Amino acid sequence: MIFTTDGLVLRIVEIGDHDRLLTLLTPNYGRIRVMAKGVSTLRSSILSIVQMFTYGNYEIYRKGDSYWLRDGSVINTFYALSDDIERLALASYISEVAIEMSDEGEDATDTLRLVLNTFYAICKQDRTYSVIKAVYELRMAAMAGYCPDLSGCDECEKFISDDMYFDVMNGRLMCDECFHKMSQGSQTTTYSYSEESADANIICPVTSSSVTAMRYALSVPVQRMFSFSLTDKQEQENFSKACETYLLSHLGRGFDSLNFYKSVKSI
Ligand SMILES: [Zn+2]
Repeated sequence: MIFTTDGLVLRIVEIGDHDRLLTLLTPNYGRIRVMAKGVSTLRSSILSIVQMFTYGNYEIYRKGDSYWLRDGSVINTFYALSDDIERLALASYISEVAIEMSDEGEDATDTLRLVLNTFYAICKQDRTYSVIKAVYELRMAAMAGYCPDLSGCDECEKFISDDMYFDVMNGRLMCDECFHKMSQGSQTTTYSYSEESADANIICPVTSSSVTAMRYALSVPVQRMFSFSLTDKQEQENFSKACETYLLSHLGRGFDSLNFYKSVKSI
């Protein structure tokens, strides 16, 4: 069977000197692995669709569970993602998360839209990368069924207070007063995800600006999800920490690409 689909290259594995196995995220077929044969001898128009982060239209031959690339054309190369180490590292992490959250045969329209909008935002270079990453993580977690209830303190329903606490595994907020009332006793508190803390009660202190940013990022259409400002560095850090912890804790895993991003990101 031959079919065409739009797709985004999220991973490349070189097979020998000439072939390349692409992991493509497609709207209707989900995440598929497509073999591109004889890459070194391909004409340049095809060569551009077998590059990392390329979004294109692909003509694919399918036999059983195997897919082979036949032809295609580029929609967007997202070239700017690859010409800077920090952007490359962040885009690699974004890709790894999308691979983790998608599967073959499962509709990935929304996941693809989220990743594409995130790539566009990184390429535009007019927003802080840590904020872009945080919005992506929070929306991805929500899409996977872990949408937190950020409507107010889970105990007293207070809408907002200067210092709030984000109960990660229960996806709820607590105000300062209720948190301290509840935490008298032996509650374990950790502030970020690690393998060791996977079963712990993970609590992130969050500022009112972070809570407002999280509410905004989850409630607007995907095209507007980055249209807010969080200019203070500390606030960005707080927001970023909460969203990262939330996603990783619910997935129950870390990512090498995330560690790499952290090792190269500018301060
Ligand atoms: Zn409360």
